[in-house]
Amino acid sequence: MDKRVIIHDGVSIKIYGTENPEQVIIHFTDEITAYNKIKKAVITDKGIYCNGVSCMISRLLQDGGVPTHFIRQISPRDQLCWRASVIPMEVIVRNVVAGSLAQRLGIPEGLIPKEPIYDLCYKSDDLCDPIINDYHALALGLVNRTDLETIYTMTKQVNAILFPIFRKVGITLVDFKIEFGHLADGRLVMSDDITPDTARFWDIETGNKLDKDRFRHDRGHVGEAYKTVYDRLKSVF
Ligand code: 5GP
Repeated sequence: MDKRVIIHDGVSIKIYGTENPEQVIIHFTDEITAYNKIKKAVITDKGIYCNGVSCMISRLLQDGGVPTHFIRQISPRDQLCWRASVIPMEVIVRNVVAGSLAQRLGIPEGLIPKEPIYDLCYKSDDLCDPIINDYHALALGLVNRTDLETIYTMTKQVNAILFPIFRKVGITLVDFKIEFGHLADGRLVMSDDITPDTARFWDIETGNKLDKDRFRHDRGHVGEAYKTVYDRLKSVF
């Protein structure tokens, strides 16, 4: 598969056009960033673990009826996807209080809310992805009402599929971020990857963090943690 022009030159992810204008190759690098790219490092083989986790999750979601942009894994670091016009809005699902929610509302990390919490963020590096609500999303024209409802339905489906799978491999799916987009034929799909870069995974037995928080908070063993998520997920595949 030919990687033609680069269409998104990110740090952790690069997206290339292919000979088929409706398909792209998503390439995962070993680079990691945090705090709006202020903190950077290279973690050996991170790209392999993230692409592997993302591909396994996308297949599980598709098998569970969630439409995604994913087509297939084409190499350890590359996946072939449908090209999507991405909505500039992040949807965050929180099964356990952590990260910015704990900070913003002064709630202790680890608290389990009565039901999952859904946050919307407006995607903007300059503004550090500020939180918005449904009214902002509609009023700013990021989505229409039908798509917003479908996005919530699909997001709940993603959580309902993934939470028990991770529990089965000894991991709590604490929270995750996903994005949506439209394919060339207009279909709304999840056009994002779920990896230890974009989700929080805690080991059920030890409470150890198995995600990007290890890098954010200088806890070390980042690559080992990512490999643990990859190996455990692979064990049920
Ligand atoms: P928080 O709001 O606590 O910082 O993040 C909640 C969850 O969403 C975490 O799993 C975090 O990794 C993910 N997340 C939120 N925003 C972003 C983002 O802009 N990029 C990435 N990679 N993950 C994000």
